[in-house]
Amino acid sequence: MKLNNSLKRREFLQYSTAMVIAGLGSNLACRAAFDDSLNEAVNKVGTFPRRKLGYSGREVSVLIGAGGLAPSLVDAGIKCGMNYWHKANQWARTGTPEAILKNRDAHYCQITVDRIGGNHETGRIDEQSHYDFVKEILKQTKLGYFDDIQFHFGYHNTAEVKNDRGFVRAFERLKKEGLVKHLCLSQHGYAGNARVPGGQSAAEVLTLVVEDGLYEHAQIMYSYGEDPATNRFLEFARKKNFGTIAMKTTRGIGRMNQDTAFMKTLPAGTSPHNALTRWLTTVAKIDLAVIQVRNFAEFIDTYSGAGRTLRSADARAIELMTARADATACRLCTECQPYCPQQVPIAEILRFDRYASDNRDLTRARALYAGLDRRADACVACGSCIEHCPQKLQIPERLAAAHTLLSRA
Ligand code: SF4
Ligand code: SF4
Repeated sequence: MKLNNSLKRREFLQYSTAMVIAGLGSNLACRAAFDDSLNEAVNKVGTFPRRKLGYSGREVSVLIGAGGLAPSLVDAGIKCGMNYWHKANQWARTGTPEAILKNRDAHYCQITVDRIGGNHETGRIDEQSHYDFVKEILKQTKLGYFDDIQFHFGYHNTAEVKNDRGFVRAFERLKKEGLVKHLCLSQHGYAGNARVPGGQSAAEVLTLVVEDGLYEHAQIMYSYGEDPATNRFLEFARKKNFGTIAMKTTRGIGRMNQDTAFMKTLPAGTSPHNALTRWLTTVAKIDLAVIQVRNFAEFIDTYSGAGRTLRSADARAIELMTARADATACRLCTECQPYCPQQVPIAEILRFDRYASDNRDLTRARALYAGLDRRADACVACGSCIEHCPQKLQIPERLAAAHTLLSRA
């Protein structure tokens, strides 16, 4: 089997996806070809720049990896200097990559911890359960310690930050035992969420979290396009030495890549993922970003933008992408949410729509959608949400389309 450097993108994508799924290949020729592909990806991407993260001042690659990344892409990421691993607890199921176990202290591994007794809306914080969970996952991953313990989905409101210290206490006990080092969270917005009485926006919660001073950094919803509210928070966070990591970064891009007519409008030599990465890692006020990739072709296309200048052609691509995404893909800010008389979980539904339409993960999206107690067909198309959406997204239409896509058996 021969895999040369002149493989066309589609062939390379198919090949690398198959190899990622198959592992390292079944014979030496495959293995050699696969190593060539990996090295080619690493050479094209180069070395990721690093930035200081939060008060610890840890030097972290501008793009961080995730526990769900295919093993071959973890290897390629490490060769490019990727040194922070979000959701490393997923390795309890799949096995911790050898390269990380062999050089454990060169990596920052984060465990993501959920509420118990329900989901992120209905579940509760429980000190002992969180403490036990971390200890159990440490045994299964053989990592020895986690650098960061992340409160997944974050707090419902500022009162919970102040009054429910169970997660912080679990962290403090584990820290005393040398099993975790830093506290962080990923924060969703809960304002107007019918299942979360007293829910507040992500910005309200995070502002208090920063002032509270216990957490070192946070993952927040952040993508290209105008977002003055989040930018204000990012400036505030930076002044306070609080680290920020962008998540849910690829708003609408999966759909763009499938639209030949749109792709033809982009300036020559640009691509949506590459322009996004350039923008996130050189222009945006965010410290680090997580961007999902599934194969070597996406690894090269997306990650080769890390730390590289946003050229005028990329800036134009971002403009075109923004215009397109503002009309089609929700940025998950939840600003519309409190104004829906039907209490439709707009942002949740449109988040699942993104999983299906952009990440092409229809199975997961449909499973999540099926778990909602109120779905998009509760929308009566009154339109009161639209004026509160910074994008003026045609929410009723988007919800109807999402319902058709996600409720199909
Ligand atoms: S249009 Fe639908 S989602 Fe928007 S406020 Fe009215 S009922 Fe709620
Ligand atoms: S529909 Fe608009 S206001 Fe609502 S969460 Fe999405 S982007 Fe924000």
